[in-house]
Amino acid sequence: KGVFRQELILKEYHFQMFINKTSNKNENYIILFNDISELKKAEMLKSDMVRMLSHEIKNPVNNISIVTENVMDFATTDFLKKNFQILQESTNTIFNIINDFLSLNKLESTLTQLNLTEINIIELLIESIELQSVNANNKNIKILLECEYQKINIHVDKKLILILFNNLILNALKYSYDNSTITVKVLSLEDKVQILVIDNGIGIPGHELNKIFNKFYRASNNSEINVSGTGLGLSIVKKIASMHNGLIEVESEYKKGTTFTFTLLKN
Ligand code: ADP
Repeated sequence: KGVFRQELILKEYHFQMFINKTSNKNENYIILFNDISELKKAEMLKSDMVRMLSHEIKNPVNNISIVTENVMDFATTDFLKKNFQILQESTNTIFNIINDFLSLNKLESTLTQLNLTEINIIELLIESIELQSVNANNKNIKILLECEYQKINIHVDKKLILILFNNLILNALKYSYDNSTITVKVLSLEDKVQILVIDNGIGIPGHELNKIFNKFYRASNNSEINVSGTGLGLSIVKKIASMHNGLIEVESEYKKGTTFTFTLLKN
């Protein structure tokens, strides 16, 4: 059915392979090998360079952040206080970008091995919701956990799945209005578990839904609500989901709300 695509690595060559039937009437196939080795090399070089730069930038930014915090207490006028605050917020933003980028880069490196252990996914969700309680309280948002079970054990990399949950719940908080409710729903089906993070927030315009998982992409809805971000959180979510052979999907209605669904196979 349709075109089968697969990336193939043969020694130092990288191919994109396509297989398709020539017609529905017979069993003849066309197999196309597209040599994308140069493209892959360029991509790797770009990632390596940014990773190197990120490491180099991290220390000086850290120093600026520490010094700003130290001198902030001595700011005597409103003007100085305001300027130090801007300096602090800006260094935090750069820090977040570097950290997100480095963790994505680490995930993308072939060296990353999953540390699979059997964990109760419900407990992990509760931990993630508790971690976000300060952010939720700041906006007076309630986070409800809707689940019929107390225990669903699955083999996953606990650290990575916690990062995935944190990103989805933090996004729901960031892009929701004050005094609203976020629902985290768990469905246990025969062969899979689904975790839904549902918000009634600002929503995402339809034409941007297929772009939000791209690195550094921030949708135009950001003009609705003034929140900072790196545009890397959902790329990290997607990477972690695919490392677990899971699926991440989004449904949204602009200005009404968004639902992210994470599907994980039971093992
Ligand atoms: P960011 O750091 O900008 O939040 P993400 O990769 O996590 O980066 O998300 C990419 C973009 O997707 C966000 O900038 C925002 O426009 C949109 N987005 C993500 N989650 C939501 C949500 N729950 N509601 C509305 N928009 C969202």
